[in-house]
Amino acid sequence: MSESARSATASEAAGIDTLHHVIGGQAVSSGGETGDVFNPATGRVTARVPMADADTTRLAIEAAADAFAKWSETPPLRRARILFRFRALIEKNADKLATVISSEHGKLHDDALGEVTRGLEVVEFACGIPHLLKGEYSDSVGTSVDSWSMRQPVGVCAGITPFNFPVMVPMWMFPIALACGNTFVLKPSEKDPSASLLIADLLAEAGLPPGVFNVVNGGREAVETLLTDARVAAVSFVGSTPVAEYVYNTGCSNGKKVQALGGAKNHAVVMPDADMEMAAKALMGAAYGSAGERCMAISAAVAVGDAGDRLVAALTPMLGKLRVGPSTDETADMGPLVSAEHLDKVRSYVELGVEEGAELVVDGRDVAVEGHEDGFYLGGCLFDHVQPSMRVYQEEIFGPVLVILRANDLEDALDLVNKHEYGNGTAIFTSNGRSARQFAHEVQAGMVGINVPIPVPMAFHCFGGWKRSLFGALNVHGPDGVRFYTRLKTVTARWPDQAPADAQYTMPTM
Ligand code: NAD
Repeated sequence: MSESARSATASEAAGIDTLHHVIGGQAVSSGGETGDVFNPATGRVTARVPMADADTTRLAIEAAADAFAKWSETPPLRRARILFRFRALIEKNADKLATVISSEHGKLHDDALGEVTRGLEVVEFACGIPHLLKGEYSDSVGTSVDSWSMRQPVGVCAGITPFNFPVMVPMWMFPIALACGNTFVLKPSEKDPSASLLIADLLAEAGLPPGVFNVVNGGREAVETLLTDARVAAVSFVGSTPVAEYVYNTGCSNGKKVQALGGAKNHAVVMPDADMEMAAKALMGAAYGSAGERCMAISAAVAVGDAGDRLVAALTPMLGKLRVGPSTDETADMGPLVSAEHLDKVRSYVELGVEEGAELVVDGRDVAVEGHEDGFYLGGCLFDHVQPSMRVYQEEIFGPVLVILRANDLEDALDLVNKHEYGNGTAIFTSNGRSARQFAHEVQAGMVGINVPIPVPMAFHCFGGWKRSLFGALNVHGPDGVRFYTRLKTVTARWPDQAPADAQYTMPTM
């Protein structure tokens, strides 16, 4: 924690610190409403997060707007050099960042380190911004007329992010936004806000000028202010679909560029010719890793033909060995859920599945973690013979619950996947190239894995889903990130040595 941050929290009573915002390079405490931040492994409150009101949020927008003029005129090469230094600082502080993530999110330390690396890769991509911003040039589009395009920053950008990747998801956004010459206001999840504050410290240490990157903690009021303030030019959102849709509609109707990534129900289709052990192991990691709280988690498996019984037979003993524990337990396979409310929600889905008539093959509800009785733990749950009409299939559960459906053939399986309202990621397990090709070609989803359960594109490709998993025209990171955080300008120029004989009133053709 920075010196200024320490002073902002020093007056806190009861031994629980109140966190702060970072506005114009300063730690700012706003007073007013706060929320509790928990350590999900113990169930204890570890900090209070200030919930920014509209005035505090406007201060951050103002700081970003003030910093824009100078930052946007800083040559891309110099902006990149700051990102190179930031990159080195992330590497140096990876363990610290991972510890902060785990202490508020609950995921295992190694998993949190993986998250930091996936965020770091976007910073590495953004370090290439002088190359990425190069426009196109056409010599002689007409007689002695040349034309070229350039990408210029949009202005103040806002990022509104979910709890499940408190480092990686903000890093999908701000490294590219800053590299393109924009300034940024990040509104992280109120459930695990501390990682963003550490990121702000590291950016300052890397030499980023004050006001270029700001953090506003809070919830709905802060988001509404970001969506309606005229000084915000672009909004990147990642979170659940109802909020994504609201953010998209509100942001667009206020004249902003918006990309809003929503929820998911990622299907894995398991063909009868798949290596069943490989598929089952892949599904274990994809369904239960990070307690199923990943937007790319596999939460529905579609077993084709006679694959179903063999898949359930392979998964069941693996679930028996799945170890649940705190992030510090090196033998654990997954940690707790993020909050008591979320634990209740996921448990109620398990009850609902039973009521709906699905077969609960493995019930993780009675899991106990010794010494952590108040933590938000749930063991892995497996439902078989789930029907498409059931809510446990239709809705995103976002916990360690895998549902298995049966399909007669690949066409049936594709029909199921394609009819689902979400279309984020999907995967097929098969040893048949023709099935894999047909699946990749016909499936209605933004990211497809072939024998790869979580096909998250690398930073130099774009990440984004289809259907109600993404609202907006552009994905995050990769070339789309550069497109989103810039506006294209095309210049047409000539340098005649004398005026034409007459004015030209017809449409000019070259
Ligand atoms: P969430 O929608 O509850 O919150 C996301 C952000 O929106 C937070 O910053 C939160 O403070 C804010 N917010 C919440 N309710 C709001 C409201 N009514 N008005 C304005 N702002 C509001 O999501 P979450 O629970 O933090 O994260 C889990 C969800 O995010 C899942 O649905 C998951 O699939 C999704 N997610 C999607 C992707 C993706 O790439 N598509 C990636 C990560 C997470």
